[in-house]
Amino acid sequence: MKNVRMAHNGTDIIRIENLIFEYKREGEAAPDRAVDGVSLNLERGSFTAVIGQNGSGKSTLAKNINALLLPSGGAVYVDGYNTGDAEAVWEIRRRAGMVFQNPDNQLVSAIVEDDVAFGPENLGIAPDEIRVRVRESLLSVHMYGERKKAPHLLSGGQKQRVAIAGVVAMRPECIIFDEPTAMLDPVGREEVMEIIGRLHLDGVTVVLITHFMDEAALADRIVVMDEGRVVLDGAPSSVFRRADLLRKLSLDAPLAVELAERLRGKGFAIPDDIINTEEMVEFLCRSK
Ligand code: ADP
Ligand code: MG
Repeated sequence: MKNVRMAHNGTDIIRIENLIFEYKREGEAAPDRAVDGVSLNLERGSFTAVIGQNGSGKSTLAKNINALLLPSGGAVYVDGYNTGDAEAVWEIRRRAGMVFQNPDNQLVSAIVEDDVAFGPENLGIAPDEIRVRVRESLLSVHMYGERKKAPHLLSGGQKQRVAIAGVVAMRPECIIFDEPTAMLDPVGREEVMEIIGRLHLDGVTVVLITHFMDEAALADRIVVMDEGRVVLDGAPSSVFRRADLLRKLSLDAPLAVELAERLRGKGFAIPDDIINTEEMVEFLCRSK
């Protein structure tokens, strides 16, 4: 096989260069432009949240990262591999895994452990190695005890954790989570967010698309999308300071940011960089 890997910048695992993606519309001359000139570099090991209204192009962008969709214009590189290069597709899928909103659509086998083995099997990994990975991945999402169960008997949160284990078993460098907690109850959400946080600490590059601002506040960087474009990109504390723009896009600020604003209105000096509940609690405890 020829070496399809292009020279790349070692610190960025994902490079998105002026990406355009258009869905062809049945019976209509003009295609629907879902991503409209996005350029974005994601640093290895970083944790980026992507937020934006419904239809702003988040999922389309995500699917372009692991070559589920291919650019109509511009280019996407994963660890130096161009997603538009048909020969690179497995190299890309091995490096960039995806977890979707509905766990039911991601589970393919009748038994949990077989499901987790599915991804590595597709990568052609040896059976002994697959067994090791299945065990490790299920342990890491606290689902090893359920390994012989049928996925449909699990709770939503448990199913999503099995879906995550299936991606983790492929040992990707980057995982893109597309609203992974949207269908879960609060307990399931918390369990899944705990796992995402730990994957990031373990060095996995995380892209988290979410509607929950408290989840976005956990990231190192927030990218805000609107009508297929990136309209804001920065550290959570600076993004959440743009209350005007967020409101215009019908996005809330996290609870801690709103609370901080209201407390400031009542004359309390709350630092600007408090954006999540933990930080707010710590600050208030320290200042009592
Ligand atoms: P988000 O994930 O931010 O809600 P999407 O990427 O799903 O946004 O959608 C962006 C735009 O692309 C929307 O206008 C949506 O209607 C359109 N779109 C999404 N998926 C398809 C599809 N499979 N076929 C045609 N248009 C689509
Ligand atoms: Mg979406």
